[in-house]
Amino acid sequence: MENKKILLSEKEIPTHWYNIVANMPNKPLPPLNPATKEPIGPEALAPLFPMALIMQEVSQDKWVEIPEEVRDVYKHWRPTPMYRAYALEKALDTPAKIYYKYEGVSPSGSHKPNTAVAQAYYNREEGVKRIVTETGAGQWGSALSFACEKFGLECEVFMVKISYHQKPYRKVMMNTWGAKVHASPTDLTEAGRKILAEDPDSPGSLGIAISEAVEVAAQDEGTKYALGSVLNHVLMHQTVIGQEAILQMEKAGDMPDIVVAPFGGGSNFAGISFPFLRLNFEEGKNIRCIASEPASCPKLTRGQFRYDFGDTVGMTPLLPMYTLGHNFVPAPIHAGGLRYHGAGAIVSQLLNDELIEARAHNQLECFEAGLLFARTEGIIPAPETTHAIATAVSEAKRCKEEGKSETILIHLCGHGYLDLAAYDDYLSGKLVEHEITQEEIHESLSKLDTPLI
Ligand SMILES: *Cc1c(COP(=O)(O)O)cnc(C)c1O
Repeated sequence: MENKKILLSEKEIPTHWYNIVANMPNKPLPPLNPATKEPIGPEALAPLFPMALIMQEVSQDKWVEIPEEVRDVYKHWRPTPMYRAYALEKALDTPAKIYYKYEGVSPSGSHKPNTAVAQAYYNREEGVKRIVTETGAGQWGSALSFACEKFGLECEVFMVKISYHQKPYRKVMMNTWGAKVHASPTDLTEAGRKILAEDPDSPGSLGIAISEAVEVAAQDEGTKYALGSVLNHVLMHQTVIGQEAILQMEKAGDMPDIVVAPFGGGSNFAGISFPFLRLNFEEGKNIRCIASEPASCPKLTRGQFRYDFGDTVGMTPLLPMYTLGHNFVPAPIHAGGLRYHGAGAIVSQLLNDELIEARAHNQLECFEAGLLFARTEGIIPAPETTHAIATAVSEAKRCKEEGKSETILIHLCGHGYLDLAAYDDYLSGKLVEHEITQEEIHESLSKLDTPLI
């Protein structure tokens, strides 16, 4: 057997982030002011984000230099390893070659610190004292807690209540890095109090937590807000992953035919796939990039491309996205994460232009793929990550049927060592097949009165 592990040296950590907007045939549509329905300018975002990040949000420059201090923090865990999944290939008896790029080696165990560190840096540069954010499963909150600690900022996290109780160790992780964590909805904000008045037992949602965090940031001069996915600058910060992956594939003397990544708001998918899409744009390559989502929250495969709010209460600008409706809350029996109702503007435009693909998987299929991965490759993947593995398994099976030796690259964007309760539910037979019905999607979308595209 050849070498399993494909490593890079510290010198090969990328020096620039890649901005795919420069290469897109149709640029992402602008955010709109919900009242006037007119495009909003960068200045409207100034209460929430530091200027450097706002400029990155609207930038059309192809390359943005990574500040030296950010690269220095990246050196704690970057470059991340890539592996050839020989054992998984053997178990699937497939002629396909499978590789995976592993971001679980970061301090918080996923790709999220790649942008958290950059965002904390720019906030500190502009004199911000405190960053407020929301977190669902806790991956983003823990990444930002780590990053704020590195740059001497306070960090406050609104954590979706159901996760706060189901994932106590994520909270402890945030507290360990010095952050304050609230179970959302709280009575600390108007948005939270409004939700609690309607439903005192609300389990919370990412959209509600976003509303709370945005409200706190908007009201305090020295406080800014940070988002762990969806926005253009967040996706761009993640492109260090794909740039490293290209170097590693070259070292392995190979190049993927297919790149698969799980999809929540789009940041890890963008991180691995955008640098490969650049090769499609500039070198005429034909690499298929597939985003994998849950059948319980299928915005890419069954949602509508239109303007919608990024949060539940309707405090954000209107953003162009594939959406299930901002009021959509996935069924509580869904255990695999990726519960956000919408998708980022860039990824939505790419999907609409058929430059990327999307696939939805049932949660049982995902955990089955996750278990197969753990039993062959050893690493227990995050429940979110198992969606990409499910896509890879189905593609590897297709390769076997068609007798094709295609190369598949999986984005193993996080480990699942703090998500073992979900594996416990799966192993003890508590998880059921779940797919949202057409009526439920229709009902959620019919409540929207935001502009169509
Ligand atoms: C946050 C997270 C996701 C989903 O968010 P994206 O922005 O779509 O990447 C997926 N996997 C892991 C491990 C995560 O932490």
